[in-house]
Amino acid sequence: MRENEVNLHTHTFRCKHAEGTVKEYCREAVKAGLKVLGFAEHSPFPDERYGGTRMAYGELEAYRQEIEEARALFPSLTLLAGLEVDLDPRYSLDFCQKELKERLDLDFLAAGAHFVHDASGNCIYAGANAHHKEEIVDLFAEKTVFLMKSGLFDFITHPDMVAGSIDQWNSTVEKSFRKIAECSAETGVPLEINAYGLRKKEITYPDGTVRHPYPYEPFWKLFAGYGIPAAAGSDAHKPSHVYGNLPDVFSFASRLGIAVCNVCIAEKILKRRGKELKNG
Ligand SMILES: [Zn+2]
Ligand SMILES: [Zn+2]
Repeated sequence: MRENEVNLHTHTFRCKHAEGTVKEYCREAVKAGLKVLGFAEHSPFPDERYGGTRMAYGELEAYRQEIEEARALFPSLTLLAGLEVDLDPRYSLDFCQKELKERLDLDFLAAGAHFVHDASGNCIYAGANAHHKEEIVDLFAEKTVFLMKSGLFDFITHPDMVAGSIDQWNSTVEKSFRKIAECSAETGVPLEINAYGLRKKEITYPDGTVRHPYPYEPFWKLFAGYGIPAAAGSDAHKPSHVYGNLPDVFSFASRLGIAVCNVCIAEKILKRRGKELKNG
């Protein structure tokens, strides 16, 4: 199996900012030549917080069932049922483990920081073009490190998402990002080079740089120095994007000398579930 035959980061209509059913993504995945398709829908909370960008909590079973049904309909695909978790201070890792992973019998959990909480409890969205101060970048790094150290997640989605709000690379920003890369090296939890950032509009930053919010090249150059592999995910929000911009991500990784380990992540998940890769 080749690295570009695996995508573990797919959303569905359920998160309210994506479109398409599980079956529609599977159909497109077969067309694109994918062999392993992982669904990592945004995980909801029992009190429906952040409900505008995720399914209702009561929909989890239907989401899980939809993936199970697709397994029978698309025998050429290895389907993995997962969630993309973000942590809120009011919900613990134990909640993720018991109420999400175990109760729903999920194959995997991925995690990514989309928002951070400051010392006063304010919730701050990490992405977009918000000109965040270095403190916010560091909160993002600390949260990402916490997620990796938990041992609960198979990979970290867009570990550079906050870069969309960084006006310039400097030594303080570098120090924060180094914590993320170092922790991946220490824990062996892969970081994902995320293709969705390449489908987002280019932004002109105050220093005149024009770029997509992520993948953030200064971070991935730093990461390349650790000699560890990364995941590559399409982060599809439309069935036609199931393989969207993945070729660009593979070229990006190869240009920086970063190996991709999608197959290895899929194998690890399957092994834990007592299964093997089809056509492995
Ligand atoms: Zn995400
Ligand atoms: Zn995502």
